[in-house]
Amino acid sequence: MGWLAAWFVASAALAVEIELEEVAPGHFVHRGTMEERSAENLGDQANIGFVVGERCVAVVDPGGSLAVGKALKAAMRKVTDKPVCHVVITHFHPDHFFGAAAFRESGVQFVAHAGYARTMAVRSRPYLNALRRDLGAAADGSEVIAPTMFVDKVATLDLGGRSLELRAWSVAHTDHDLTVFDASTGTLWLGDLLFVDHTPVVDGSIRGFLEVLDELARLPARVYVPGHGRTDAPWPDGLIPERDYLKLVLDETRAALKRKRTIEQAVDEVGTTEASRWVNFEAFHRRNVTTTYTELEWEE
Ligand SMILES: [Zn+2]
Repeated sequence: MGWLAAWFVASAALAVEIELEEVAPGHFVHRGTMEERSAENLGDQANIGFVVGERCVAVVDPGGSLAVGKALKAAMRKVTDKPVCHVVITHFHPDHFFGAAAFRESGVQFVAHAGYARTMAVRSRPYLNALRRDLGAAADGSEVIAPTMFVDKVATLDLGGRSLELRAWSVAHTDHDLTVFDASTGTLWLGDLLFVDHTPVVDGSIRGFLEVLDELARLPARVYVPGHGRTDAPWPDGLIPERDYLKLVLDETRAALKRKRTIEQAVDEVGTTEASRWVNFEAFHRRNVTTTYTELEWEE
């Protein structure tokens, strides 16, 4: 009995609760937590979900661990019994892709930006080591799945009665950000090109990020799904807080460089007025300033 009870507790601790929200007809979103990754939340940090067509389903980001991917799949099966034909991975960050193995079946295409493979080659091992450190045994089965389809510029996925337009962006949040747009409902999945409430992360180029935001704002979206957080702001107004943050970090870092501040001084001084506006500010903001400083150092 003791063994059984222990097993039950362990399995209960591994359960991720997946709540789905149908943000537009056939578009189901699960919102991840804003907490840091832990054995309790199993890496359930990103906004993930799926789109249901007449013939098949496309998953948009399978989540931060195999457990999250499996939970998403179980929740999906309560909504539709159609087969999964595509798993779109918006970019190679652990909270978005590590659940991919839950959807590995014959006939499933794993879709990513053409630039994805390069980052995957460099970061797979460190990302897996960090996942094991944070999740312990609960990381078992989480793995890096190599995409089977790459998007250079644009691509269309046909789900039957519904087409998804995939677009590969120039360097912004990362150097391989992919978005998903369904023109029939005006629904845009942004991946981490949009952070709401959670501190934006620059792992590509801050100047590129700002340019991409301007381009995104021109898309005819009505409903949109950020990579983290939620907002009721109409499109494209929901991009404004992130845009303002990035612009401030860019301007203040540029000014610090002009005043010959060192990178350490810049990290202490730039953007501090933003601290109260964002979740996980300490964890990500300093790194953003470091990245920006390094990027701008070569401007002149
Ligand atoms: Zn990301």
